[in-house]
Amino acid sequence: MSESSTYIGRFAPSPSGPLHFGSLVSAVASFLDAKANQGTWLIRMEDLDPAREPPGVAAQILTQLDDFGMESDRPVLYQSSRLEAYEEALLKLKLDNLIFPCDCSRAQVKAMGSIYDGACRSRPLVPESDYAIRIKTNEDLIEFNDRIQGPGAQNLRKDIGDFVVKRKDGLIAYQLAVVVDDDYQKITHVVRGFDLLDSTPRQIYLQQRLGLSTPAYAHVPIAINQLGQKLSKQHFADPIDVRDRFSLLHSSLKFLGMTPPATHARESVRQQLQWGIQHWDIHNVPKLANISPHTIAT
Ligand code: GLU
Repeated sequence: MSESSTYIGRFAPSPSGPLHFGSLVSAVASFLDAKANQGTWLIRMEDLDPAREPPGVAAQILTQLDDFGMESDRPVLYQSSRLEAYEEALLKLKLDNLIFPCDCSRAQVKAMGSIYDGACRSRPLVPESDYAIRIKTNEDLIEFNDRIQGPGAQNLRKDIGDFVVKRKDGLIAYQLAVVVDDDYQKITHVVRGFDLLDSTPRQIYLQQRLGLSTPAYAHVPIAINQLGQKLSKQHFADPIDVRDRFSLLHSSLKFLGMTPPATHARESVRQQLQWGIQHWDIHNVPKLANISPHTIAT
């Protein structure tokens, strides 16, 4: 079996708002990389924080992706249905004496220079008030080689500190859920936004502690507005308008370093996506943290 035929990739949106140009770019990048490698492409809905998920948004995201011709090759996995698996992972970490309860406030952690120093590691008793669960980190250098951004390394103890795997509000932290599900779905290749590059060593560390596989990682630049802020709901990025899908896909391809042919009114979005698959070369993706879409002439 060739390596490419075992490729399984995914797009894993959090349904906190409909897709905007920035999230569309990540979806397109993961889709093209999977399809250009004859791979399987999955959608995973990271719906673990109900308070931040307006009703209907998950369905809206799926419709948006569908409008662009991007459909999951298998049923969409909802993280809200996977709570038992995360608890099992926590139990394993607990049995290995790797996690501990912590009720430190944000202000206390800030006072540590925002790098948690392990203050609660040796508390004899579980706190009476609400508490988070943190994992002990160590001084080992976690190294990886991003397919776009190149080599990266972190000493988690120094650079990040003991990090949260279950939040004070009882919700499972993204870092834990993502590794449990990437392994469960047998993801071989992760392609996502540059803002998550910094999370990669934490995820590799968790994979190592839990005995899970480590996929190959690639981080594409994120879209920023003219003020240099990441496009996100907080910064009022407009949700993508499906009526503009042709030009939005065209801009996404350019953003990813491609030179799609000039727009042609009768060409369908599916044809354009097909063009993207045929011409995809991950080496052409700019090795940058962010790009303002305004700088890309359409
Ligand atoms: N759910 C995360 C987000 O929307 C992405 C997770 C990932 O791709 O690892 O930012």
